[in-house]
Amino acid sequence: MKRLFRFIAALSLMAAASAQVSAYTTTSCGSGDVSWSSKFRYLYAYTGSFPSGSSYRTALEEAVDRLNDNASGFTFYIIYTSTAPALGNGRSEVWIENISPPGVTNYWWNGSCNMTEADIRMDSSVTWTTSIVKTTNFNYGGSGRPFQTTLLHELGHAIGLGHEADEYNIMGQDWDHIHTNGNYSRAYFGEDASDGSVYLYGAGSGQDLGVVHWKWTGASGAYSAHGRTRLLDPSTGSELSYTVVGGERRYNVVRGQNVRMELTYENNGNSYQYQDVNYYISTNSTVSTWDTLLASRNLGLSPDNVYTSTYDVTIPSNVSCNTPHWLGAVMDPDGSVSELAEWNNATYIPVYVNWTFSCLVITPTLEVTPIQP
Ligand SMILES: [Zn+2]
Repeated sequence: MKRLFRFIAALSLMAAASAQVSAYTTTSCGSGDVSWSSKFRYLYAYTGSFPSGSSYRTALEEAVDRLNDNASGFTFYIIYTSTAPALGNGRSEVWIENISPPGVTNYWWNGSCNMTEADIRMDSSVTWTTSIVKTTNFNYGGSGRPFQTTLLHELGHAIGLGHEADEYNIMGQDWDHIHTNGNYSRAYFGEDASDGSVYLYGAGSGQDLGVVHWKWTGASGAYSAHGRTRLLDPSTGSELSYTVVGGERRYNVVRGQNVRMELTYENNGNSYQYQDVNYYISTNSTVSTWDTLLASRNLGLSPDNVYTSTYDVTIPSNVSCNTPHWLGAVMDPDGSVSELAEWNNATYIPVYVNWTFSCLVITPTLEVTPIQP
């Protein structure tokens, strides 16, 4: 029944958007779906796994905060306990132990299809990073799998969501469903999982826009597979040449070149948004409204479809040559939308401005002060 409804909704969207249509999954139960009977639940965190002051405790709290950003307003409250956790004891717990998958969630429900317990176990044998510093993360040249993205995926199961293969989604591959700007990479729940939370629990009141340099690339079994968005040649549509630096593709460009930026835009909130997106070039990887503005446009985003698209910009004729730069986008640059998360509104694509003869042109940078007569 639910699937049929989603399918009909999807058909009506197809004319408007060419991107993948929303397709979160749930556990069907009778005529409905398995879910909690209310939007507020306690989650007991075992202090043997999450001791006070540990990086794992910080990472747990970050992941739960990101789950709590969902558009339905569903909220987990953490209670720390030294009582040893166990499956099937009637309370929902999270702990770390040696299990073979990186994370596992078991949940139980009653005859009314209401969940009665959800237990999350994280594997102790994975090389995790609990840091949000991107260079610790194996997506960005580090060695650790981000603990927060995997835990957030498990928290998605714990509110009733299943795996998702057809769209960029935390309920697919979790480690490359991540937001990065500057030196920091953060887990976030995302549009499709948020849409699923609203399906299960009804709409909340929060709004959230985001832009990331990751996208859906296909299905890997039951999981969506993700990859980086690219910088393209507008005349051929093919990817520009690049060098891998810090695990990232840094594209070769020159002054005056037209380039096509591919990025993924999401509406993680509750209602349709029609907002500005600004495009910039920056001399560092933290893209913000302080950088050099290249272009601006309006973008309409409904909260039920991840939108990966391209936009063409021109590398300015006065940027420094033989120098790395970062192209970027900022959503809602004037801050007109009050959002659940403001840190996910900007991201970057690394470029390197190579030398051409145009670099011989010296661009005046002196300020001219008018002389009083
Ligand atoms: Zn899973």
